Amino acid sequence: MSLNFLLGGCFGWRPSKMPKADEGTTQVWLWTMKVIFIIPLGIAAFESRKVYNTVKGIPEILHPPYNEHVLLAHLLTYIGTMTIFTWLFISSTLLIFHWKAWKSPYILLMGLIDLGLAVTLGTGIVLQAAYLPSTSSGCSNANTWQIVGMNKSFFSVIADSSPPSSAENKCQWFVSAWSEAVVSLSFQMLIAYVGVFFDEREYSFLNPFRPLFYLILVVISPPFWIHTHVVPRLRFAYRYILKLCRITGVKPLKFDQPIPYTPRDKHIVVTNPKLQQFLTIEHVLLVLVDNLHYEDVINLSLTCKSVREAVFPHRDLNYRIPKLKKRVCNEDSKKPCLYCNKKICFDCKATRFFPGLPGRRHVELCQPYCAKCYYTHFSRHARGTKKPCKCNISDRALEFQQMCRTCANSEPTVLRDSRFKRYQQEARDIADGIFLPPGEKAKCGSCKLDLKSGARWWVCGKCKGECRDAIHPPFAKRRKPLDVEKAEKQEREFHELETSRWLKWMALFRNE
Ligand SMILES: [Zn+2]
Ligand SMILES: [Zn+2]
Ligand SMILES: [Zn+2]
Ligand SMILES: [Zn+2]
Ligand SMILES: [Zn+2]
Repeated sequence: MSLNFLLGGCFGWRPSKMPKADEGTTQVWLWTMKVIFIIPLGIAAFESRKVYNTVKGIPEILHPPYNEHVLLAHLLTYIGTMTIFTWLFISSTLLIFHWKAWKSPYILLMGLIDLGLAVTLGTGIVLQAAYLPSTSSGCSNANTWQIVGMNKSFFSVIADSSPPSSAENKCQWFVSAWSEAVVSLSFQMLIAYVGVFFDEREYSFLNPFRPLFYLILVVISPPFWIHTHVVPRLRFAYRYILKLCRITGVKPLKFDQPIPYTPRDKHIVVTNPKLQQFLTIEHVLLVLVDNLHYEDVINLSLTCKSVREAVFPHRDLNYRIPKLKKRVCNEDSKKPCLYCNKKICFDCKATRFFPGLPGRRHVELCQPYCAKCYYTHFSRHARGTKKPCKCNISDRALEFQQMCRTCANSEPTVLRDSRFKRYQQEARDIADGIFLPPGEKAKCGSCKLDLKSGARWWVCGKCKGECRDAIHPPFAKRRKPLDVEKAEKQEREFHELETSRWLKWMALFRNE
């Protein structure tokens, strides 16, 4: 018999591929288990026969108030164990003497017989469990076990029928016989499993690996599904709620507005009109500052009121300062002062050993992530996920900082506080994409797609972990969409904005 029907599926479902088994190995396993099983099964069988005979000899315990299935329970256990015991001899003899003939479908037949016997024995065991304690320690109260009204307990009646034994002894005997039957059933189930799932073919429904595979699938799938689908969403929702809670805490930062300097022209006494006229010509002034450091230009402006007005004309400040900054200092080593943004170069800089600035890392290195990339890289806790950023531990480490000479002589705490406030504002401007040209949007640091307004997730550029620092705003505002007709106007506004940034830095310069 080919048993090809075991390869077909039903309702469109087809059995999946399993590892190939070996029928010869199945036979060896079956025979070995059956031989090992003979002795324990023999003990259980003869013990259950004794128990059955005892129960049968006491008619008063076979009907209420005692369990009405007592006789049936012990009969099934007795028949089950005794038949299995006999069948073990027959089947193991058949297996050893008809090794070649007893292949499929005979192994399947043997397996089905074993399964039937296991069901018989199992039924008897389940019925007994209704009126026996689960362990022998439960026999300590055998005299009062499940008594109804004024009746004696089940075990007391049995003890009375065979003096001088006690109810507790009888109870322990019953429980021990029941435990032996349970062990027998476990063995029998194993033998039935090997017999029924005998088929060596990979796509057979009765491949021995199939139940194991489905069992593992059933056991592992729910926790795995929760781990991969539910927990990451909960994690994401939790972080999102925390961001929502932070919305109200983000208040606009207030900066001291510079008081505009408006010279009173009639009070300016021009002591050297030629020099003043000379400096008022912008291209002459720019040629002059070509060889100066920026601080020297400031010092030049401090010569007198008229020279100040010539170098930093109050009506033209927004355009003059960028021009001056472009020309001053050594071009090769020119960079802004860390604290006041004034231009410095290798020759005019001052170096100080100051604590690091906590905000700088967030503005220069942290990247925004879109919700999808954040979910994939962080909420899912996939393999290789970085822990939340802890770089703030080293943020305040002492370091060599290059700055202008004015800042170098200022109080470090005041400088640092003021700089941090500006970093805060910069972090917010970066989140809102304020520094981006019109029409351009901030990009996700991972997928490089445009970021929409809404929640912002930040990733530290140093350690690649999630940056949860409060300097980053939890949400980004919506930017007005680009109108083609207004594009020119917006371009102009952008340049004005750039210039207004100069003004912000000017606040420090003017307050000197
Ligand atoms: Zn310089
Ligand atoms: Zn400075
Ligand atoms: Zn950051
Ligand atoms: Zn970090
Ligand atoms: Zn992304």
